[in-house]
Amino acid sequence: MEIIYKSTRNSNERKTASQAILQGLAPDGGLYVPEQIPSLDRSLEELSGMSYKEVAYEVMKLYFTDFTEEELKKCIDSAYDSKFDTEEICPLVEADGAYYLELFHGATIAFKDMALSILPHLMVTSARKNHVKNDIVILTATSGDTGKAALAGFAGVDGVKIIVFYPKGGVSAIQEKQMLTQKGANTHVVGIHGNFDDAQTGVKQLFSDKALEKELDAAGYQFSSANSINIGRLVPQIAYYVYAYGTLVKEGKLASGEKMNVVVPTGNFGNILAAYYAKNMGLPINKLICASNENKVLYDFFTTGDYDKNRAFTLTNSPSMDILVSSNLERLIYRIAGEDAGKNAEFMSSLATSGRYEITDEMKQGLVDFYGNYATEEETCETIRNLYEKTGYVIDTHTGVAANVLQKYRRATGDNTIAVVASTASPFKFARSVMGAIDAEKYSAMEDFALIDELSRIGNVAIPRAIEEIRTAPVLHDKQCDTNEMKQVVTDFLGM
Ligand SMILES: *Cc1c(COP(=O)(O)O)cnc(C)c1O
Repeated sequence: MEIIYKSTRNSNERKTASQAILQGLAPDGGLYVPEQIPSLDRSLEELSGMSYKEVAYEVMKLYFTDFTEEELKKCIDSAYDSKFDTEEICPLVEADGAYYLELFHGATIAFKDMALSILPHLMVTSARKNHVKNDIVILTATSGDTGKAALAGFAGVDGVKIIVFYPKGGVSAIQEKQMLTQKGANTHVVGIHGNFDDAQTGVKQLFSDKALEKELDAAGYQFSSANSINIGRLVPQIAYYVYAYGTLVKEGKLASGEKMNVVVPTGNFGNILAAYYAKNMGLPINKLICASNENKVLYDFFTTGDYDKNRAFTLTNSPSMDILVSSNLERLIYRIAGEDAGKNAEFMSSLATSGRYEITDEMKQGLVDFYGNYATEEETCETIRNLYEKTGYVIDTHTGVAANVLQKYRRATGDNTIAVVASTASPFKFARSVMGAIDAEKYSAMEDFALIDELSRIGNVAIPRAIEEIRTAPVLHDKQCDTNEMKQVVTDFLGM
């Protein structure tokens, strides 16, 4: 069955999968969504016997219906290879009554690698299928992890250039160094004077700038997006929830058909939305537990139905979740609005003009699958420390937020269903915050790399290759700009 993609803001805007991947964001500012969410066509028993790559194929074939089997398998093989430091791709680790799905074994040790290692291959294949002549310019705003994962994925790919904007001072030292040491003449990294939302708003404006689009076309370029709004990122993320379920069945922790809960540390709402799609495809998921840090717009939304970004923005120790506008939430809003593009467009226009919107009581019924809560900085640190002291297992700050919210959920509801916690970053990526959580006094004076050595020692885990590499790598990017200079930066880099 062919799946067509429609914009969440205009149902006449229709694309094939490959066209939607190339386009990224719809011209009307909407996000592409499949006309219907397909159902898994393999039994849970069959899926539980499959490798990660096989599961990935079974999921992606249902969405990317204009790709041939050969094309899709080639993309999957090129993505989930020795860039990952384990053949399992995403191992499941049991600690203190929860299963941590480690999504950080790829090139940049954060979960963004799960999708960004395949997106470049999907995009190049899509360009070939659609006879695109222009070079593709990937434009990305990052709160830290997307940037490096996209740079690593697209560096050196023919026919593609990539420009990454990140909030200067709003990412961890390791995250920044990872980006600034990126090799590849087709890569460009720019620190903006503003926060993540400023960077994201700036990128969205460039995408919807019609005059710029014409200029680019004349110069032989067209934009595309590697942000989590791209359907080519969302769909690959569904695979690991199916894989996690299969692993639990294979290991005898779950009976086939029995439900699991999923806990996701959430920022832009891409990761948890993938779990929602998995549930709608027939994967036995009970609750989707949405964990926020002190930037708790989503918690407030789930409890009141009022999405309101008019509030102070807090820099936390889980910076990849420091977000006030969760772009992918639009796909959920569209769905609970009965797939009514007009209604969704009204909410989004209200968000753009007044910074808030309130959903109807009827729409609230559509949120029953979700539970939202948040963790303060202190609670996150305490959760990391307690887990370490109890089990020796060290989790990063984002995963710490999720682990804390799982405790709150269990306390509030008494629901002790098996829970899979999306473990979204290696603790090595946020070593300072993680070690500070474990023993603030002891570690506060240590240098970054001394902390990393110490983390390896106390957690009894090897230092990931991604960290070893940047220890000595030279800084290759030093560009900074104000938010109103982003357009100039892009045209300069492209030599226009
Ligand atoms: C991006 C990111 C998140 C948030 O994921 P979303 O899909 O944006 O909700 C959480 N943790 C880490 C480590 C991340 O990099």
